[in-house]
Amino acid sequence: MPFDFDCVVVGGGIVGLAVAREMAGHGLSTVVLEAESLPLTHTSSRNSEVIHAGIYYPEGSLKAQTCLAGKALLYDYCERRGVAHRNIGKYILAVDAEDEAVLDDYVVRAAANGVTDLEWRDTSDMRRAEPAVRCTRALWSPSTGILDTHAYALALQGDLEADEGLLVCGSRVARAEPVSGGWSLHLEGQDEAVRTRRLVNAAGLGAVELARRTEGLTPEHVPQAFLAIGHYYTLAGRSPFNHLVYPTAGGGGLGVHVTLDIGGQVRFGPDVTWVDEVDYAFDDSRRDQFIEAIRRYYPALDPERLAPGYTGIRPKITGPGEPAADFVVQGHETHGQDGLVNMFGIESPGITASLALARLVADRLGVAALDTAAQTATVGSGS
Ligand SMILES: Cc1cc2nc3c(=O)[nH]c(=O)nc-3n(C[C@H](O)[C@H](O)[C@H](O)COP(=O)(O)OP(=O)(O)OC[C@H]3O[C@@H](n4cnc5c(N)ncnc54)[C@H](O)[C@@H]3O)c2cc1C
Repeated sequence: MPFDFDCVVVGGGIVGLAVAREMAGHGLSTVVLEAESLPLTHTSSRNSEVIHAGIYYPEGSLKAQTCLAGKALLYDYCERRGVAHRNIGKYILAVDAEDEAVLDDYVVRAAANGVTDLEWRDTSDMRRAEPAVRCTRALWSPSTGILDTHAYALALQGDLEADEGLLVCGSRVARAEPVSGGWSLHLEGQDEAVRTRRLVNAAGLGAVELARRTEGLTPEHVPQAFLAIGHYYTLAGRSPFNHLVYPTAGGGGLGVHVTLDIGGQVRFGPDVTWVDEVDYAFDDSRRDQFIEAIRRYYPALDPERLAPGYTGIRPKITGPGEPAADFVVQGHETHGQDGLVNMFGIESPGITASLALARLVADRLGVAALDTAAQTATVGSGS
């Protein structure tokens, strides 16, 4: 039986769209199958929208490598495609001696990752740069930025469609089975299976579940899924901040920080709470904890100006008390199945890393090599 597509990407979040764009760009007939009625319904529209510099991640990790490579690709892409973004920069604050030691550690970690542009700021620098902020010392990260994630997703979708790729919403992949030379996908509520040569599982919060329903994968290649919700409060009125402002990180997240969206709206968040199910309901009982966390570095906070914003859920693959896991981009070299890549634990900095992750997936599927072979053949044929 013929194949319907060269590549099916499961998941219409930013990572899935970036992967599909990459595949279609290599001349492969590509479709994104998205379960919800719209793309970007889950993690990709519920985050801080920060272009991360690559400071925090363990040296040599996939997070560090793809964040750094992805940051450069993303700034360039936003510039070329007119996606709203700002290289606004961020301060990471120490408010006591313990924090200062953490900042020292960040400088070392960042340098190991190739982030060599961090600069120290003292209290008088900070009084000028961010008068509302209280700290004993700060690190300035000039390469951190913000972007409009919806505009980014639209641009990716536009590229995909320009290369004759498709995004099909309302299509939940219920299970996948290997067939000779590819994969057969069974969609919820549909009798006909979709056949594809290559399959990329970029299903975010649903990636582990889909892998469990993928025949031929042994349990040791399917991690356990954990969920950690984060809340964001917004601040009414004018922003007292000129840049992004972060405390030191801890407890599975980067701390309740200040982000500004592209329209200048201030958001505080996200906190970290382990949960059992995907439920985005906002729990306003956290208000007091937020006020306490924010006042450590912004003592003048007027709680009347705080309003519940939104929540996002991190697709984690290690649980409470365990070290944060690296991104997992698993191909044949790991699970032994041809034409299949599973992406697990694509939490922060997944948006920043998205274009680099897409290249990595193409690599794992041998698609970049196919291009080279095609070019050699063309050159060899003299056409
Ligand atoms: C609180 C928070 C803050 C963050 N802040 C940042 C930040 O500032 N900067 C940054 O770089 N990153 C950040 N991230 C990380 C970033 O948001 C994610 O890495 C990224 O959005 C993941 O994109 P995705 O496409 O993998 O997943 P998603 O956006 O979740 O997309 C996966 C899609 O797959 C679909 N799906 C699931 N199962 C199936 C199925 N069986 N069949 C078909 N479709 C299916 C879902 O409906 C969903 O649309 C943050 C994340 C969180 C939670």
